[in-house]
Amino acid sequence: MTIEHEAVVSPMRRAAAGMPGKVWLVGGGPGDADLLTLKAARLLANARVVLYDHLVGEGVLALLPVQARRICVGKRSRKHSMPQEEINALLVRLAGEGNDVVRLKGGDPYVFGRGAEEALALAEAGIEFEVVPGITSAQGMASYGGIPLTHRGLATSVVFATGHCREGGEDPDWAALARPHQTVVIYMGLARLDTICRELMAHGLPATTPAALVEQATTSRQRVVEGALGGLPALAAQHRVAAPALIVVGDVVRLRSDLAWFHPAPPAWTWAVREHALTA
Ligand code: SAH
Repeated sequence: MTIEHEAVVSPMRRAAAGMPGKVWLVGGGPGDADLLTLKAARLLANARVVLYDHLVGEGVLALLPVQARRICVGKRSRKHSMPQEEINALLVRLAGEGNDVVRLKGGDPYVFGRGAEEALALAEAGIEFEVVPGITSAQGMASYGGIPLTHRGLATSVVFATGHCREGGEDPDWAALARPHQTVVIYMGLARLDTICRELMAHGLPATTPAALVEQATTSRQRVVEGALGGLPALAAQHRVAAPALIVVGDVVRLRSDLAWFHPAPPAWTWAVREHALTA
């Protein structure tokens, strides 16, 4: 592990010698801190400067040393607190000043995380970096939601797609997403749920295709709303599903009735248990 080794040269001495620091682009996973890789956990425990997003779980941030400098560069659907170019520039500047920087991102840095844009900016600036993979939210949702991504007889392929298109950007290849025997997981799709369901049906998926919305997967606030593709927008409105959430479409959703094992306790229940413990 190099971060401990490099820390031997203090950032101040390194900066004085004109040596840049190094950046670790770290996947923070979908929420549950137990899903971090050992490498990510070790880097977090030794971090001095950390740039993180809103999507990073509280339990993950709790692993940072108290003295670590934390910079929230946030990003919530439609509320970008720092433009991507500024994040790239900040990483380059901090590392250029001699700091070792942990750039902590939700899920996996290279799955709809714009991690590659940051890595390209670092490469261009001649800053050394490493990328540490994380469990992407689709995988977290599959395990903790009881919805396998593939299953013999039900799905022979899986597609991760984004529902959020850049202004004037190209639309997803709906025909490719609407193939049979395929699981489709859509990131950042909630705001366009109506269009997504409509297009998938227009391109051949029956309205009865099993589908689900998984909100805050792997966390104590995980919720799964399950139904049929045709009725998904109405279900989302009825249950007030909010970001971060994934849309899952495919026959594998049917397996959930047998495979759901993760039942996070609602906060009220946790309180009831605590009060019981106090009064018992
Ligand atoms: N790099 C991340 C994705 C970032 S894009 C990853 O690999 O997971 C942000 C989108 O990811 C959100 O809009 C949502 O669709 C999805 N997402 C991230 N964390 C999630 C979670 N815990 N539960 C459900 N969806 C999540």
